[in-house]
Amino acid sequence: MKISRISVYRVELAVPGGAYRLSGGRSFTAFDNSVVAVEADDGSLGWGEACPFGKGYLPAHGRGVRAGIAEMAPELIGLDPRDTQRIGEAMEAVLPGLPDTKAAIDVACWDLFGRAQDLPCYRLLGGLARNRLPLISSVSTGTPGEMAAAADRFRAQGCRAHSIKVGGALPEDDVARIRTVLAGRQPGEDFIVDVNRGWSLDTALKAVSQLDGLDFTLEQPAASYRECRALKSSLRQPLSLDEVLDGPQMLLQALGDAAIDFANIKICKVGGLTRSKTMTDICAAAGLGVTLQETGGSDIAFAAICHLAAAVSPRILRHVWRHVWRHVWDPRELCAVTTADGAPVSEAGFAILAQRSGLGIAPKPEVLGEPVAVYA
Ligand SMILES: [Mg+2]
Repeated sequence: MKISRISVYRVELAVPGGAYRLSGGRSFTAFDNSVVAVEADDGSLGWGEACPFGKGYLPAHGRGVRAGIAEMAPELIGLDPRDTQRIGEAMEAVLPGLPDTKAAIDVACWDLFGRAQDLPCYRLLGGLARNRLPLISSVSTGTPGEMAAAADRFRAQGCRAHSIKVGGALPEDDVARIRTVLAGRQPGEDFIVDVNRGWSLDTALKAVSQLDGLDFTLEQPAASYRECRALKSSLRQPLSLDEVLDGPQMLLQALGDAAIDFANIKICKVGGLTRSKTMTDICAAAGLGVTLQETGGSDIAFAAICHLAAAVSPRILRHVWRHVWRHVWDPRELCAVTTADGAPVSEAGFAILAQRSGLGIAPKPEVLGEPVAVYA
């Protein structure tokens, strides 16, 4: 089996219900998403997508994903798409680093592999541990009251884990946000306080000194790995790394430095399912809890998250993120983009995975439109 064609589609993903807000005044109303189809000479087909969120989140952007694919795709024609490690090495040889540019092709190869074998991807990724996966919400930053109300809405949908976004200019404002949202905690709930790189080291030290005794995991409090590592010894809460955790090498470094207690693995951020699987294996060996998420994307990305999550040891998997805006944002909102049928359904705080081959999804041609690039 040989790759005969790689097609790239661009789909803009609007955020329904208003803007999504992060630390530092960053506000997003839409995301630039790339969907990729990998075809083989025997007619096999697989799909992936990559959406590195909006500007200012990672050193990555939507147009950059497609520019990277333009460099790599011609070199992949003729390779066997089932050889996922070899495909990754071939991409790395053309374009070292830049994991976001590789993720969609890597995911599409796994989908194709599963479809060709008539097996769900989770079976190829290690076998089914569970098909009912606990979801984590994402609470946009705002006033303490707004954030508590948002957490209540997700709670009403069944979510029992919440990632709350903070990172304002004044540490006392963030302390108020955190205390207010956590005051509504229900039994069994899990909270991540996600600063998204928003604090300087001195701000972080002031903020965490006022949060002793509160039960949460602090995620990516400062911009650099050095700052997060420096903060570790002052923290009573577990430390999660996200934005700086861009692949297996960084995970190994943080483990070696004892500077990580929890890993946020996002498929686009780390370069695809192959490298995400490597990272979850390392986390399992190290006893490190993980949340499996995405930087953005829609139904295809969500299916990829769930297939990997289904195969991860329940000992370390805490939750997955339903990063499909209409569900994260407002369950009544139906106008957001659905790029594919067949993605796992979200039900009472859990994602339910069906037994279908590959990622189990069927992209919607009327949503994808015409490809913006074809390599053959
Ligand atoms: Mg995060």
